[in-house]
Amino acid sequence: MRNDPKLIKAFLKDKVQQHLYRKVRITESAQAPRMQIDGKRLLTFCSNDYLGLANHPEISSTFKKAADKYGVGSGAAHLINGHSIEHQQLEEELADFTGRQKALLFSTGYMANMGVVNALMGRGDVIFADKLNHASLVDAALVSRAKLQRFAHKDLNALSNLYDRNTANNTMILSDAVFSMDGDIAEVNRLAELAAVEQAWLMIDDAHGFGVLGKTGAGLLEQENLSQKDVPILMATLGKSIGTAGAFVAGSHDLIEYLMQTARTYIYTTAMPPAIAAATRTSLKLIQQEVWRRDKLVSHIEYFKRSAAQLGIQLLPSDTAIQPILVGSTELAVAISQQLEQKGILVSAIRPPTVPEGTARLRVTFSASHTEADIDSLLIALEAIMC
Ligand SMILES: *Cc1c(COP(=O)(O)O)cnc(C)c1O
Repeated sequence: MRNDPKLIKAFLKDKVQQHLYRKVRITESAQAPRMQIDGKRLLTFCSNDYLGLANHPEISSTFKKAADKYGVGSGAAHLINGHSIEHQQLEEELADFTGRQKALLFSTGYMANMGVVNALMGRGDVIFADKLNHASLVDAALVSRAKLQRFAHKDLNALSNLYDRNTANNTMILSDAVFSMDGDIAEVNRLAELAAVEQAWLMIDDAHGFGVLGKTGAGLLEQENLSQKDVPILMATLGKSIGTAGAFVAGSHDLIEYLMQTARTYIYTTAMPPAIAAATRTSLKLIQQEVWRRDKLVSHIEYFKRSAAQLGIQLLPSDTAIQPILVGSTELAVAISQQLEQKGILVSAIRPPTVPEGTARLRVTFSASHTEADIDSLLIALEAIMC
């Protein structure tokens, strides 16, 4: 974009006309099914707080106590003097929880992906990535200067064909575990088999599975019984099911030590506040103790799918907390989202370029803190608008 006010104005006008203009909403209450947003009371189905932990009193209380003890700012990067005992213990607990030798904290998931991919991949290398991967994985690959080869969504044959023609020595397979805008799950077992045969790096981003999938909530790799040997690089975020903020990467002792020496988004940035690390430790404990949260989420998902099918509402194939209603046209998706809002319900319309052209959708997400009556309210509103 050239420095010309007229061009910026024309760009913005164009976005409005195409129903692609993005705006923030201002929330004035804690993250929960019922929130005060832009001055209105809304029942929300759009957050990633799948377990209802973002506003949990015990996690807040740990956060406050830690802030009293350590202050708010960490003051420095991890490798200077910003790495507190809370960070250290959280990393050890994350490694234990995920069954990996070691874990490393990052301040955001975006930075974790950027840091890891760039530490391992560079010019002359090849990255194979699912077409529907999260933007942060795409950007990480682009910045690395490795060649980015995207394969059709979950198409292992396409990936295998790309490998048949591959001549690069150092390759990486990159995939979301649970696809963030579709809710479906990657074929991680087959990815792991292929990665082993090809001696490739396999990096799985479990932002939407960590906390909710697996027997103890350790994520998709726990559910599928995939060890550190099968999937050498596990990344997950702490701002979704975990209800706090930040992210981590887990893997072998040597891999993590290597990342500490080389991952620029780990080295050249301020450590997350120690109170966030402390609060996250409490959240991890609750996730393992309060199994009812995962059970309730599963029952909400099943209830919604069953009821939507009865109403003839077309959902994308997903068994996770992300249940998108496929609309197609951007204009229609925005219109339905606005009509829901008039009825006091907030569901976000997901539009291009976040999703491919012609696949605009309503991204409905559920939380353990919803009630079945909340889901009924959503279904009644959807029926009135769509059926
Ligand atoms: C949210 C998300 C991220 C980014 O994590 P942040 O901590 O929000 O920066 C990365 N990958 C996926 C798949 C995500 O959904």
